[in-house]
Amino acid sequence: MSSWSLSNFSAEKFYSQGAYGSAALILLARACRATLPQQCAFCLAPCGHLLVCTACCESLQKIDSACLQCALPASDGARCGACLARPPPFAAAFAAFAYAFPLDRLLHAFKYGGRLSHAEFFASALCARVAQRPAGTPWPDALVALPLARSRQRERGFDQSAEIARRVARLTGLPMLSGLRRTRDTPAQAALPWKARAGNVRNAFAADPVFAGQRVAIVADVMTTGATLASAADALLRAGASGVEAWAVARTLPPAQPR
Ligand SMILES: [Zn+2]
Ligand SMILES: [Zn+2]
Repeated sequence: MSSWSLSNFSAEKFYSQGAYGSAALILLARACRATLPQQCAFCLAPCGHLLVCTACCESLQKIDSACLQCALPASDGARCGACLARPPPFAAAFAAFAYAFPLDRLLHAFKYGGRLSHAEFFASALCARVAQRPAGTPWPDALVALPLARSRQRERGFDQSAEIARRVARLTGLPMLSGLRRTRDTPAQAALPWKARAGNVRNAFAADPVFAGQRVAIVADVMTTGATLASAADALLRAGASGVEAWAVARTLPPAQPR
């Protein structure tokens, strides 16, 4: 499945909207692009100002017929059995890609190698995916980044979800709100078995009243079990949000999930 395209969310549009914050930096970025054409991060083919060439982008694994509420594969693209039985607190979930090779390498380089420029590609792909929402699914009023635990932000020096969310806000024109925060540092979800993850992050977030009456999309880099996003969504709903969506660059398929 590759019916969507990144062309509507190209770097041209990104630059033209002043993503670098000042005219001088935009000119500098254009000059760099003109003199230093990029190679595709995967196949090394020249691809102008893009991080990933069109062919490689189309070959990255997407989640076909994704469940509207959890973004995992569902037989007919409607809500899956798990969401019908125990609906998550978010009304909709979108993932641009499945968390799989080779995209996982790109996300890893972004997160742990400090390759902040990758955020442009992730934001563009996420925008293209959420634009495919089923007819009648309302757009959110605002975005919020899934906050990173303070200790991990100190280690990394940046918050990967916030880097992506800022760019998604510019591309979609949706305002980005702050006011969702962690109430405690939790052990890294990756260190825990899947079944222990919901308990680890339960009530780990609090949200300010700024979200009251707003339909909010939470932006994250990776949605694994969905437990962290569900806990954040609970906090937003407690603060009066009228609805919550989960937007992730990549969604991990569960271990036993047939593809
Ligand atoms: Zn390529
Ligand atoms: Zn589902």
